[in-house]
Amino acid sequence: MRKKIRILIVISILGLLALSVIQGYLINNTYRLKREAFISETRRSISRLDDFSPKLDSINDIWQGYFLNVLAGYRKGNIEKSTILKRLKLKTDSLNDAYIKNFNIELSKKERAYDLKFQKRIKTIIFLDSIKSDTIYSKPNAPTFYFLGNAFKEEEAHRVSNSLWLTDHSYDEEIDGETVESSFDLHFETLDYMNIDGWKKIVFNRMKGLLLVSVLIFLLVFGLLYYSIKNLITQKKIADVKTDFVNNITHELKTPLATLTLATKMLKKDTIVTTESEIANTTVNTIERQNKRLQKLIDQVLNNSLGYNEIQLHKEPINTADYLHTILNDFELSVHDENIILNKNIHTDEKKVSVDKFYFTTALFNILENAVKYGNDNVTIDSISKIEHVFSISITDNGIGIPTKDQKQLFDKFFRVGNKEIHNVKGLGLGLYYTNQIVKAHKGTIEVKSAENKGTTFIIKIPLT
Ligand code: ADP
Repeated sequence: MRKKIRILIVISILGLLALSVIQGYLINNTYRLKREAFISETRRSISRLDDFSPKLDSINDIWQGYFLNVLAGYRKGNIEKSTILKRLKLKTDSLNDAYIKNFNIELSKKERAYDLKFQKRIKTIIFLDSIKSDTIYSKPNAPTFYFLGNAFKEEEAHRVSNSLWLTDHSYDEEIDGETVESSFDLHFETLDYMNIDGWKKIVFNRMKGLLLVSVLIFLLVFGLLYYSIKNLITQKKIADVKTDFVNNITHELKTPLATLTLATKMLKKDTIVTTESEIANTTVNTIERQNKRLQKLIDQVLNNSLGYNEIQLHKEPINTADYLHTILNDFELSVHDENIILNKNIHTDEKKVSVDKFYFTTALFNILENAVKYGNDNVTIDSISKIEHVFSISITDNGIGIPTKDQKQLFDKFFRVGNKEIHNVKGLGLGLYYTNQIVKAHKGTIEVKSAENKGTTFIIKIPLT
């Protein structure tokens, strides 16, 4: 039992762990989905914001015009390659405040409950018309360069969109004192990024319900499991204490009872009690009877703690006919009541079967005694024993019978049929339980057939090998 409880605890913990892992996996998946949904929803709401605002559009145009001029200056040889970005930065500084202000005005028109920052970055600036293309700027080798928008950290940035601008730009150039029109092919790529303040908190807020339900379910399962196991351990402890108590008390009772038995035997001797002393004789007999009864009760309680797998059998081959005759004769002698008729019907010839005599006799006696206890005024007991494929014994009485609804529980510990008539008969409800355990230990079966007020038949079958 202790081992079983331990296995149960281990399995429960493993089950709980598996449940937590699955729940964690599902929550993580939901978190990812919610995060993606939230980011793409925000992305959609701010992309192409410039296109709807003439002010933003014009700032973009100013920056672009300046950008093309700087590039033309580079092509003319007036500006060094390394200073291109510095010049662009100066323009950004002069335009950016206005850009951010107008961007925020546009943003405030959208319904949002969180702060958002936006940034336009350069990805590549390449001249394509030279024999060998001339790269001015290229991510990821170069440090991040944003030309319009707010500053924020790289790791807090979410990509919104990217755009490619392929253009053929013409400009005037002075060569040998003459103004000549030159042009360049430009490959210009930009990236738009956004930063959502506290986006994790927002996503978690959206998952609040799910998280709460998950935690509650987990706590419920954990609580139930904890409660059940705790209960099981308590029950086991109580059962142990009960068994120990019963064992102790019965052992304690056995010693004085044994002494009583000896004492009554001595009293019965002629030398002590004279035959004339009628009262003394009856008293001694009463003491003896009650003593026997007490001993039997104690034996029953003691045996009750034994399950069929704890019964140690010492089997021996018995001559079935002899054995059954002896038992039935002994039983008749022990009852010595004229109203009881015991019909013996033994068809086992001289065949042998292996049983533990001590236990098997106890089992048969329990059934025979019940036939008398729950019998009529004139009890008839028919016992039929035979050996065919199995060794079978059936004991039938013409007693009060057992209601069909009670027959299923008949072999349960402490079960007694609960009508008034039977309550007059004393008993602990352990006899049939113990009989069944003995039969099971012999790998046999016991069945009952009964009809109320007609009688009861118990059939025991024991395999031959
Ligand atoms: P006990 O006789 O000590 O109560 P048992 O385990 O021997 O316990 O029997 C359980 C119950 O089954 C009895 O209380 C009785 O109600 C019923 N029973 C057993 N044998 C018979 C029988 N032959 N006829 C009618 N009822 C019976």
